[in-house]
Amino acid sequence: MIGSSYTPLRILAVDDDPVALLLYRRVMEDLVELETFPDAESALESFLKNPAQIILLDWLLPGMDGLELAKRIRQQPGTEDVQILVVTGREESDSLKRALESGANDYLEKPVSPEQLMTRVEIARRNLEIRQEKRKSESKGALMLRVFDNSMHGILITDRDNRIIYTNRAFSRITGYQAQEALGQTPAFLSSGFHSEAFYEQLWESINKHGGWKGEIWNKRKNGDIYPEWLEISTVLNESRELTHFIAHFSDISQKKQNEEQLRYLASYDTLTGLPNRNHFLEILNRSLLRAREMHHKGAILFLDLDRFQVINDTLSHGSGDLLLRLVSERLKKMIGPTDTLSRTGGDEFALLIDSLSSLDQPIQIVEAIMAQFNEPFHIEEQEIFVSASTGICIFPDDGEDPDALLRNVDMAMYRAKEIGRNTYHFYSPEINTRAFEHLALEASLRRAIEKDEFILHFQPLISTEDSRAVATEALIRWEHPELGMVSPARFIPMAEETGLIVPMGQMVMEKACRAFVDLGRESEGLDYISVNVSARQFFQEGFLEMVDATLEKTSMNPRNLELELTESAFIQDVDRTVELLDQLRKRGVKLAIDDFGTGFSSLSYLKRFPLDTLKIDQSFIKDIHKNQDDLAIVRAIIALARVMKLRIVAEGVETEEHASILRREGCNILQGYLYSRPLPLGELQTFLTSPVL
Ligand code: C2E
Ligand code: MG
Ligand code: MG
Repeated sequence: MIGSSYTPLRILAVDDDPVALLLYRRVMEDLVELETFPDAESALESFLKNPAQIILLDWLLPGMDGLELAKRIRQQPGTEDVQILVVTGREESDSLKRALESGANDYLEKPVSPEQLMTRVEIARRNLEIRQEKRKSESKGALMLRVFDNSMHGILITDRDNRIIYTNRAFSRITGYQAQEALGQTPAFLSSGFHSEAFYEQLWESINKHGGWKGEIWNKRKNGDIYPEWLEISTVLNESRELTHFIAHFSDISQKKQNEEQLRYLASYDTLTGLPNRNHFLEILNRSLLRAREMHHKGAILFLDLDRFQVINDTLSHGSGDLLLRLVSERLKKMIGPTDTLSRTGGDEFALLIDSLSSLDQPIQIVEAIMAQFNEPFHIEEQEIFVSASTGICIFPDDGEDPDALLRNVDMAMYRAKEIGRNTYHFYSPEINTRAFEHLALEASLRRAIEKDEFILHFQPLISTEDSRAVATEALIRWEHPELGMVSPARFIPMAEETGLIVPMGQMVMEKACRAFVDLGRESEGLDYISVNVSARQFFQEGFLEMVDATLEKTSMNPRNLELELTESAFIQDVDRTVELLDQLRKRGVKLAIDDFGTGFSSLSYLKRFPLDTLKIDQSFIKDIHKNQDDLAIVRAIIALARVMKLRIVAEGVETEEHASILRREGCNILQGYLYSRPLPLGELQTFLTSPVL
């Protein structure tokens, strides 16, 4: 019915024939808002004031004719949908065509019956409705597309087979793919490969069950970059609740992630040095502490505070204080092992966490190595700046219940170190302090001892089993400490190795040994050679060969009268370099011995590569050789090995006749031990050598 769904439907009727207007009124007046006009001018005037949806007009009118009116109406914007029906008595063949050209929608010939009129008006109404509906949905669609396109979020629509049918501008901006590249594909072409199959299975399960999914997902851009996005997928159903489309809506959250990471970083790290900050350090310490309790081991915290940093900072230009802190942290970083943690806990404070200690001396070694690092100046603004640090040390879990208590205590220990006089360290625990003090005292006096020449050599003869005469002698270092008396090499050699003092010390030993041998006048005393112990650190020291050459030269020693003793562990540290060094020594005629053999688990394949002269069986195998079958078996095997390799074989620690006779029986060439002589001062050795053999 006319007007049924379109209220108010306004119709203008124009005719100069009042009968026609009367007919219109009669047929339609009750159903629609109808206005009638006798001429085009008044109709147009009314239309412009109050537009109508349908216009019935007579072609032939006085003044402006109907077609002209139709044209004028069409010229008005927004009149595309207005239905214009031309009603005329004009009977020309081109009438319809001309009417349509003027913008009319329909054409009726007079006389018009009421039924005909009603039908045509109804058609016009429907056309109007359809056009309006279409326009409405068209504009809705266009609006939607515009909204989609201007959305900040990426939007991707797929059909029910998950083929892409639409992507928006943000999609292209984020992924780098143009719409044409994406259309027809499934969204799988964006996948990063980061997620497992199970991940996608779960995603689809959620879509199928709940009609959607949302979460974080990593996808790949056209340029290959992998990025995180927040993705929401929903399904579109039609009226029959059948799935027609999927809509994916996503945003690039890489920036957000970066910000989060940045925040996390800022919360845990010091921006100046890149080191963990105090909070982060406490967390790491907490884990270490728990582990130490669980595994029954000990760890340490070294807490360093730069001495007089404030003064240095004030004298430097702005920013140089920061640079100094960075350089300090760089130096400290080099000192830490893979499981240790270095942190900048405050202005000029650094904390070093040693997760697991191999011995209680380890923190001392580390702090001394750190102090040695500070002996070198820092270069800032073309100046050399010397910085020292005071260090507090505490051992966990002993020195504190929890990380806070440990940090408090180590801080206290650090203040003690400052009080003592800076550039030093102090333990929180009094007992360890005493030990450390002894260590420190010994080390300090060790340095002094070299300068003051407190070291002397003792010589122990090596006796041939053939004629019971001394064929060689081993030089053994002795330290006559002014207060402590004789200090055993077992105590100070490791310390000398740690501190590097072994290098000047070893040089001194070699020189004294060569001089002693030359002074002895070997012809008269019948000694073939003197052996000198060389530590691994000394052996691998740059310039070792040159040192040997210089010593031989300086003392006029024949290289053939010198034997160097190295332990197995020294040999296997760097096999290639060892072979090279040994070859060089061999070329000079220097003899080479492997000391304490049997304790270092040497592999035979290594032994074969070394040019050796002598193999010294470690005294631990000799001690019980008379009662322990295993030891005897080992000694036998070593002797057999030495024979195959054509090596001279020396047994160390021969204390009794029983030892000597077994070794003689087993075929050992040379014996060394208290049975014959303790290590002796040079004068006493001379006496020993000139005494008749018993
Ligand atoms: P080593 O080279 O194996 O020296 C043998 C050690 O055994 C010496 O101890 C010696 O006094 C001891 N000894 C000799 N005969 C007997 C015996 O019958 N019974 C027992 N129980 N011991 C005996 P010393 O002099 O205390 O030296 C210990 C270690 O210190 C040496 O072991 C050597 O590794 C190292 N050492 C000594 N002098 C030097 C040196 O000038 N340079 C280097 N780098 N190390 C040295
Ligand atoms: Mg030795
Ligand atoms: Mg030995």
